[in-house]
Amino acid sequence: MIMRLFRPFFPARWLFQEALFRMRSPEKTACLTFDDGPHPASTPELLDVLDTMNVKALFFCSGSQAEKYPELINEIKQKGHLIGNHGYSHLNGWKTSDKLYCEDIDIASQFTSDNLFRPPYGRLSISQYNHLKKIFKIVFWDIMSYDFDQGFGADRSLHLLNRKIRPGTIIVLHDTPDSTCKVFLKDFIERSVSKGYRFSLAI
Ligand SMILES: [Zn+2]
Repeated sequence: MIMRLFRPFFPARWLFQEALFRMRSPEKTACLTFDDGPHPASTPELLDVLDTMNVKALFFCSGSQAEKYPELINEIKQKGHLIGNHGYSHLNGWKTSDKLYCEDIDIASQFTSDNLFRPPYGRLSISQYNHLKKIFKIVFWDIMSYDFDQGFGADRSLHLLNRKIRPGTIIVLHDTPDSTCKVFLKDFIERSVSKGYRFSLAI
């Protein structure tokens, strides 16, 4: 359990002072973010849930997926959600030269947004950060849902989110075909709203 919870790297916020991990709001607001899409087997279904619940979210799209499914990118925008840059080919910043890493993000900018960036895996070197912060608002997160992990399971993800939500929280979900968030997204939103939360894009 502990190993599982610590497996994905949690970025060191003291190193990235100007990046965003949580919204600076004393109120009960939360931001939902969806990484790694768009994908026809997941994104439309999640957009329907968000529509039904009247919630706007932030999609950190993979450039390669965005190039493949421009109609989904248009749909996300038309429904009033935001699109951010998550790189073109999901590179690990720790294992990639600064030049290659920044070029990959530059290519993704053609298909995504030009001012919001989330590093794949949350892995970014200090030199990459120092360069990219001049161009982007860099958005990490403070709650990881583990919806990408089938073994973790939808019930535990829902429980974790219900337990950890706090004012200004930025939550990572995934609009990938295998993500379990389709199972629990509606329940989570309903529960949060009943606790007085609203979902915001004021990052
Ligand atoms: Zn990702």
